[in-house]
Amino acid sequence: MVSSPAPSPPPSTGPQKKRGSTKDSVGLYAVQCCDCYKWRTVPTKEEFETIRENFTEDPWSCSKRPDCSCDEPADIKYDNSCVWVIDKPDIPKPPQDTERLVIMRRDFTKMDAYYVMPNGKRARCEGDVEKFLEAFPEYKDRMSASRFNFSTPKIVEETVSDKSAWKAAKAKKQGKADTPGGKK
Ligand SMILES: [Zn+2]
Repeated sequence: MVSSPAPSPPPSTGPQKKRGSTKDSVGLYAVQCCDCYKWRTVPTKEEFETIRENFTEDPWSCSKRPDCSCDEPADIKYDNSCVWVIDKPDIPKPPQDTERLVIMRRDFTKMDAYYVMPNGKRARCEGDVEKFLEAFPEYKDRMSASRFNFSTPKIVEETVSDKSAWKAAKAKKQGKADTPGGKK
């Protein structure tokens, strides 16, 4: 697994979410070393976004952190004590004055990605970004629609604790009650 992950705690342990909150569902960021495969936590979202931006071209390793080497024990273990979601690599950093948020759906079936635009409105797709730039052309030289990326992290099924509820919700969403095969 080479993409940068973002583990997020289950809602019961995470910060309380209010409706319309502008908080991510992600409680903790981590990155995997390309040499020793240990997981290292990343202190801030901004730092995570920087690592993610060039992840394929410039893979992360322990030596990039001043106080760290591959000999140090892992910061965090990849297990089901929290729900892990794996982010796509190479997502550009959000343009200035915008914030990129990923929100976990209540039933853990999917995450949604959107940007909070400089006017406080949410952009959920490229069309929304284009509409914003039409309405506020002064931003056109500062941000281009191509800098926005709406791909969402993949939820790691094994780490979703209540798997039966999760599967039921997912099956319901896909419109088929009986998922073929794969029963353990
Ligand atoms: Zn390492």
